[in-house]
Amino acid sequence: MAKNITSQEKDYSQWYLDVVREAKLAEHSPVRGSMVIRPNGMALWENMKGALDQMFKDTGHENAYFPLFIPKSFLSKEAQHVEGFAKECAVVTHSRLKSVDGGVEVDPESKLEEELIVRPTSETIIWDTYRSWIQSYRDLPILVNQWANVVRWEMRTRLFLRTMEFLWQEGHTAHATKEEAVEETRQMLDVYATFAEEFMAMPVLKGVKTESERFAGAVETYCIEALMQDGKALQAGTSHFLGQNFAKAFDVKFQDKDGEHKLVWATSWGVSTRLIGGLIMTHSDDQGLVLPPKLAPTQVVIVPIYRSDEQREAVLEYADGIYEELTELGVRIKVDDRDNQNPGYKFAEHEAAGIPLRIAVGPRDLENNNVELARRDILEKNIESREGLGERVHKLLDDIQNELFEKAKKRREEMTSEVDSYDEFKEVIEDKGGFVWAHWDGTAETEEKIKEETKATIRLIPLEDGEEGECMVTRKPSKQKVLFARSY
Ligand code: AMP
Repeated sequence: MAKNITSQEKDYSQWYLDVVREAKLAEHSPVRGSMVIRPNGMALWENMKGALDQMFKDTGHENAYFPLFIPKSFLSKEAQHVEGFAKECAVVTHSRLKSVDGGVEVDPESKLEEELIVRPTSETIIWDTYRSWIQSYRDLPILVNQWANVVRWEMRTRLFLRTMEFLWQEGHTAHATKEEAVEETRQMLDVYATFAEEFMAMPVLKGVKTESERFAGAVETYCIEALMQDGKALQAGTSHFLGQNFAKAFDVKFQDKDGEHKLVWATSWGVSTRLIGGLIMTHSDDQGLVLPPKLAPTQVVIVPIYRSDEQREAVLEYADGIYEELTELGVRIKVDDRDNQNPGYKFAEHEAAGIPLRIAVGPRDLENNNVELARRDILEKNIESREGLGERVHKLLDDIQNELFEKAKKRREEMTSEVDSYDEFKEVIEDKGGFVWAHWDGTAETEEKIKEETKATIRLIPLEDGEEGECMVTRKPSKQKVLFARSY
């Protein structure tokens, strides 16, 4: 199986596509830039979704659902928002087809009075709705999340990382005060960081985007940034403080305790199926996908090995006993009892799919009361006693989860540099890649120049104040070092 996967060293982009294919996560579809998410990919997304959804609920949020279509006029109400999204909107103009000569064409008579936009994000339709939900301070805060698909007409697409249609969640909250809204924005950033690190075992840095990278319509965009194995950064989640921009655009006011009518404060925050791309490029290897146990749809697979029918029966019974014991302990486990594939094929397939632990059992194991236990992450196998196997597996899953995180963190540290001069910066970005901390004068011009000359962008400005210095390019004053990288 592994022979179908290009090595990381040879061609990282091709390796990524090979892993997605061999792990049966997703495939290209007939629709440009849109993918088919296969059952393995969907099961993984469902686990991510489940964990995130619980975290949203634990912080007081509720789920709701808003329409897929947004009237065109809504989009133009917030000037910056429309400017940012106009270039990537799918527009519905007609409602009917008609038959012609054995085919169909758009019926010109069905032209819509007002064209509809397929949501690229839902601030506009949601804030139009909030106008009727909010009258008084008693109606606030509104803490709503929606799980949905969105469409952005992206030109350069890549499975999971950037697709035309993607699955995501978008939180949209409304608050009486600025302080509360900022606090919410920061809280959700922390939720994302916790999810990335504790579930995905993917270390992230938190920070603020520069103006040029800010969400269209936001006052401030906070983000989590992760570093992929090839030294490129991935923006893995965003949380926006929207100020009163959408309240102004949609005339959403509330009567405060003092009797005055005031504009409502807003936030929005989202993560998408891009996270699956991040997960792949954080842990996987030349044998295929490596999944952190907390998110793995199947944590343990048992492969029975036998030659005769008699052996088959005994081995399967042994396997079933293990299955029962581990299921009871809450482990997600399956027995691969397919008759039409040999064990070698199954091993390779489970390896490519990233199942964290494999238990192989054959007649000799049965005799000796043993199993063969193999770890996907470090590709190591050992003979273990059947006694106490449940506890052993449980602990191993925890260990794997922690070790994956530590390994990714160590790699990030090794791939992080700090520079003072622009020459040094160019050299590091070109030769080593990774995260690079450097001083910047805070202007869009310098940011743009660096981007043009090196293809590196400012990934974030740290949340805490750092040491002052001089911009590496202009030698003008800099408030603190900011984080640069080439990115996905
Ligand atoms: P935004 O609304 O632009 O802040 O994006 C919200 C989340 O969706 C971020 O975590 C992005 O990484 C992710 N995202 C944005 N565009 C795409 C895309 N074309 N495909 C997949 N994920 C995306």
